[in-house]
Amino acid sequence: SKAPIAIIGTGIAGLSAAQALHTAGQAVQLFDKSRRCGGRTASKQIESGSFDLGAQYFTARDRRFREALQHWQEEGWAAPWSPNLYLSRAGQLEPSTDEQARWVGTPQMASIARALLGDLPVTFSCRITEAFRGEELWTLVDADGASHGPFSHVIVATPAPQASALLAAAPKLAAVAASVAMEPTWAVALGFATPLPTQVEGCFVQDDALDWLARERSKPGRNGHLDTWVLHATNSWSRQHLDLSKEAVSEQLLGAFAELIDCVVPAPEFTLAHRWLYARPAQPHEWGALADAGLGLYACGDWCLSGRVEGAWLSGQEAARRLLEHL
Ligand code: FAD
Ligand code: NAD
Repeated sequence: SKAPIAIIGTGIAGLSAAQALHTAGQAVQLFDKSRRCGGRTASKQIESGSFDLGAQYFTARDRRFREALQHWQEEGWAAPWSPNLYLSRAGQLEPSTDEQARWVGTPQMASIARALLGDLPVTFSCRITEAFRGEELWTLVDADGASHGPFSHVIVATPAPQASALLAAAPKLAAVAASVAMEPTWAVALGFATPLPTQVEGCFVQDDALDWLARERSKPGRNGHLDTWVLHATNSWSRQHLDLSKEAVSEQLLGAFAELIDCVVPAPEFTLAHRWLYARPAQPHEWGALADAGLGLYACGDWCLSGRVEGAWLSGQEAARRLLEHL
């Protein structure tokens, strides 16, 4: 029987490609270094609540993505989120309502990836370090030295800095991936025993430290007894404080939050800090996906397009389309 297609990375891009290929009747095998799928659409579940630590919500501007989203909504994997939006700048907090439709995974952001993965074959906790091609077929090597394969094609669906080494067989693709700078983001999750007496449910911040804050519990389908919030630092603050301890980051961002928000902030019951090293590409691109069709090597990810959930999904579709076109 025919060798399957390997997909490295189970974020939205890798899963989008996997779904498109599976629908077209191709066998796929996914790999992720993490213990679960979703990549930057990760959520943390604790007994008293849930937090979307990466992507907070997404917008849908492309027709194809809107169609996929409609299906996700029908299946109960995603729902609209219409928070009381605010803008904070120069120490002033003001309402900032708009007409933009925003969406979240339900009951967590990570639910979308889990649903997309479904029963597709996947190997977790497996960091791929090398992809090499024999006469015709591909072999993957992981960080423990184990090899996996053979595969007919390889799709690299990791952030650009992690993709370039995996694309070494196609030096041109590797060079494109290596040219993409990605910015870090520190995220802090907070859980308060008593709901904060504020109307704010989401806030764009134009400040030194904070970039965004969201009241997680205002999103559809969330439960748990804590009033949960997620704070994101700006890329530049995150870069400047890359090696600060999680405790110090939590303390500083909690301080910035307490200064910004229009109520007294008690000590949180729960605090968690997470550092995203490759949170977003410094600039958007218009590559769609990268391909060396002769070799059977492809790359996709948010960094090939808009640096957003929608861009990641579209890039995965594009990688699959180009692969299928060349079969
Ligand atoms: P990823 O989700 O990064 O998936 C790549 C996967 O590859 C990961 O699971 C990783 O574990 C795996 N991997 C990496 N290297 C290897 C390897 N060597 N071997 C095996 N597996 C490997 N987007 C929005 O639209 N709206 C938002 O509000 C928003 N906010 C964001 C906030 C933060 C803090 C962050 C970090 C991102 C945010 N984004 C947002 C961006 C959005 O999350 C990403 O654009 C999208 O999820 C990227 O998907 P991806 O599949 O391209 O990559
Ligand atoms: P969007 O249309 O809601 O927002 C785009 C940008 O427009 C916002 O970042 C904000 O600066 C501005 N904006 C939008 N509505 C506003 C309002 N009512 N008041 C004030 N400013 C407003 O969403 P999108 O285009 O899908 O972008 C996704 C979001 O994800 C953005 O907020 C982006 O910053 C964020 N993101 C963050 C990271 C990260 O690493 N932290 C990575 C990718 C995306």
